[in-house]
Amino acid sequence: MTQQSKSLSGRIALVTGGSRGIGRAICTKLASLGATVYVNYTSNQAAADETVKLCQAEGVQAYAIGFDVSDSAAVDAAIERIQKESTKLDILVNNAGISKDGLFVRMKDEDWQRIMNINLNGAFYCARAAARLMMKARYGRIVNMSSIVGEMGNAGQAPYVASKAALIGLTKSVAKELASRNVTVNAVTPGYIETEMTDVLDAKRKEELMGVIPLGRIGSPNDIANVTAFLVSDDASYVTGQIIGVNGGMYM
Ligand code: NAP
Repeated sequence: MTQQSKSLSGRIALVTGGSRGIGRAICTKLASLGATVYVNYTSNQAAADETVKLCQAEGVQAYAIGFDVSDSAAVDAAIERIQKESTKLDILVNNAGISKDGLFVRMKDEDWQRIMNINLNGAFYCARAAARLMMKARYGRIVNMSSIVGEMGNAGQAPYVASKAALIGLTKSVAKELASRNVTVNAVTPGYIETEMTDVLDAKRKEELMGVIPLGRIGSPNDIANVTAFLVSDDASYVTGQIIGVNGGMYM
C-alpha cells in the first residue's frame, strides 16, 4: 500500500445504514483508505457483521453499532460510545434511508412521518451529536446522502423527495454554521443505483430509467462510495455546503 492509499489512517468514521447497499460500499472504501469504521444498522445485524468483516479484511478496526437513527436518545448514546471507545469522531456519513412509494393523495400520515423521521430527523440527530465532538476537535467531515429526486422531484415519492430535498437545506445551513470550526458538510445526490432499494422497481420502470441516463448504465454503490471518500478526505478541505450529483448525467 502506498502512503496515499491510506489517506484516512487515524480517522474514526460512522456510517449510518452501513450494513447494506451504498452504506456497505462506503464503509469498505473508507476502511480501504485506513479509517476505523463504525457500521450502523437497525434490523439486519448479520448484514452489518458481514460489512464489518469486509472492513477488517482491509486491515482496520471496524465495529457494528446497532441503533435506529430516528431515536434521538439512541443516537446520542451511540455517539457517546464511539467517543469513549475511540476518543473522537472525524467522519459522519448520514446514509441511512428508506422509501415507500405511493400516490400523494393516498399517503398515510404514519408513512409520511416514518420517512421523515428516518431520512431527515435521523440525519439531524446524528449530525448534531457528531458536531458537538467535531467542533471541539476543530475537525470534522459530514456527508448527507440525499438523492437526485430531491433536486428534480418525482411522482409517487412525495415524502421521500421532501425528506431528501430538506437534507439539502440542512446541509447548506449546517455547513455555514460549522465552517469556522473546520467542519465541512456536503451532500451527495445519487441517481439510479443498483441496491435492494431499487430492486423493487419493475422491469418497465428500470428500462425507462436506463433511457434517461446519458452514461448508459445503472450506478453502482462504489460510484457513490468513491465520491463520498473524496468528500471526507483532506483533499476536499476547501469543499463545503456542496451538493454533488453522482447520477451518470441523469440530472445536470
Ligand atoms: P438499502 O440497500 O435499502 O439500505 C438501507 C440501509 O439503511 C440499511 O443499512 C438499513 O439498515 C439502514 N436503515 C434503514 N432504516 C434505518 C434506521 N431507522 N436506522 C438506522 N439504519 C437504518 O438502501 P441504499 O439503496 O443503499 O440507499 C442508501 C442511501 O442512499 C439512502 O439514504 C437512500 O435514500 C439513498 N439513495 C439511494 C439511491 C438508490 O438508487 N439506491 C438513490 C438515491 C439515494 P438494516 O440493514 O439494519 O435494515
